[in-house]
Amino acid sequence: MTEWTDEYDVVVVGSGGGALTGAFTAASAGLRTAILEKTGLFGGTSSYSGGSIWLPGTQVQERAGLPDSTELARTYLRTLLGDAESARQDAYVDTAPAVVEFLERDPNIEFEFRAFPDYYRADGRLDTGRSINALDLDPADIGDLASLVRPELDQDRTGQGHVPGQLIGGRALIGRLLSAIVGTGNADLRPDTALTELVVEGGRVVGVVATHQGETVRIKANRGVLMAAGGIEANDAARGEHGTPGKADWSMGPIGANTGDAIAAGVTAGGATALLDQAWFCPGVAQPDGTAAFLVGIRGGIVVDANGDRYLNESLPYDQFGRAMHAHGADESSWMIFDSREGGGLPGISIPNTAPAKHLEAGTWVQADTLEELAAKAGLPADSVRASVEQFNDYAKLGVDESFHRGEDPYDNFFCPPNGNPNSALTAIENGPFFAARIVLSDLGGKGGLVTDVDGRVLRTDGTAIAGLYAAGNTSASLSGKVYPGPGVPLGTAMTFSYRAARHMAG
Ligand SMILES: Cc1cc2nc3c(=O)[nH]c(=O)nc-3n(C[C@H](O)[C@H](O)[C@H](O)COP(=O)(O)OP(=O)(O)OC[C@H]3O[C@@H](n4cnc5c(N)ncnc54)[C@H](O)[C@@H]3O)c2cc1C
Repeated sequence: MTEWTDEYDVVVVGSGGGALTGAFTAASAGLRTAILEKTGLFGGTSSYSGGSIWLPGTQVQERAGLPDSTELARTYLRTLLGDAESARQDAYVDTAPAVVEFLERDPNIEFEFRAFPDYYRADGRLDTGRSINALDLDPADIGDLASLVRPELDQDRTGQGHVPGQLIGGRALIGRLLSAIVGTGNADLRPDTALTELVVEGGRVVGVVATHQGETVRIKANRGVLMAAGGIEANDAARGEHGTPGKADWSMGPIGANTGDAIAAGVTAGGATALLDQAWFCPGVAQPDGTAAFLVGIRGGIVVDANGDRYLNESLPYDQFGRAMHAHGADESSWMIFDSREGGGLPGISIPNTAPAKHLEAGTWVQADTLEELAAKAGLPADSVRASVEQFNDYAKLGVDESFHRGEDPYDNFFCPPNGNPNSALTAIENGPFFAARIVLSDLGGKGGLVTDVDGRVLRTDGTAIAGLYAAGNTSASLSGKVYPGPGVPLGTAMTFSYRAARHMAG
């Protein structure tokens, strides 16, 4: 018999948007809930995120007068993903309105629609997108809890200063959920507490073993354990074992946090896994310290491979961009070439945004007065670089990218407001000095993990559910396979299936 240190109804492992939604749902249902977080801060990658949440057809889209509906969202997912995961697709879109209605009932939580186009041209798409965000939050409104929310990515990784102000994006979501959870009076926040194994008795998960400040704790979970503790993204050995492209240093989660502990514990308990070679991919700007910065919202320049040739539409949604890099064998060998229109800055959003001077000093960027010199400094063939730029400049004049159709999709122009060009996503590269920035394959987290059903229950390879064990977010294998349908699907699915898991535990 296990000697328990503590006893709860529900143990939640991790503290991203999914975990905290599950914890709030359980605690609101009167279940005593523990939230175990490995680090000293709550929110994980969810805190770093823009906080877009793809929860379609809810009261928030209705308030915004958006022509969204559950059926339209279902059509979009089915068109993109096919029937393979139809039960979980349906559970997702059918439950989304209830998740939002439930969360907004709490005075701490309020969402609004923010435009960000869906990522694919497919039936049911909304060109404005349909994602919602938690409203910005004044830290004073949640008192001491604000200091427990993981800082923004750039501040956390590089110490880049932020003027103290509102919690925005993912931090607003995490701050609001933490405050709502504490308000239930039924939950304990347990930072610096890392799950190491699950306790299985008679085929049922009955609790967890965790470490806290060097001590082992054994925590009983009478109703179940919900694991939403990220994927394997920060674990190079696991990435190598499963053939996940990219590497831990280039992944965008909190350094060293999401090492796949919950997935490994779930496998030991008999859980099946899928999609472990998959991630929510993106291009990354190589950083002087060997890490990468999430590159999004490209509004100028071109990207070339080691031969100096363009190979993709640079305005693609980031996951498709990352997949195109990998398919082209250009995970480590891509360069973004741009001119001085933005004063030597990158014509795109880089998070973190390291100063050009530091890049130039480290050699992650090079600068030159001519394209030939630039190519030589970057180790690229000068003829091809010149030819790629000249052809792109012709396309910019024409307003048509005859090679890769950049600027033909509403997403492509989302970050490129009208700029006087025939196609605002195509701006000639002609004002020297010129720059080349090294681009690598990055990701926003893994999307492979434990196989789960519509209630987030972890399944064995024979399809039976492991009693008492639930997984969500990047700890579970995503229902969207190799596709990133739209902004906020990682958070939206994590929150929906954590909500469903908690309701299942509450009976
Ligand atoms: C810059 C950026 C912007 C993004 N923008 C968006 C967006 O707008 N919308 C969107 O949907 N997605 C976005 N993403 C992706 C999204 O943030 C992640 O995919 C998602 O937050 C993952 O949620 P999660 O709960 O699986 O993991 P996380 O949010 O990373 O939470 C996992 C937590 O578990 C903890 N943990 C790990 N192991 C253990 C253990 N053994 N015991 C206890 N705790 C453990 C970790 O410390 C971490 O705090 C973005 C990502 C980045 C980097």
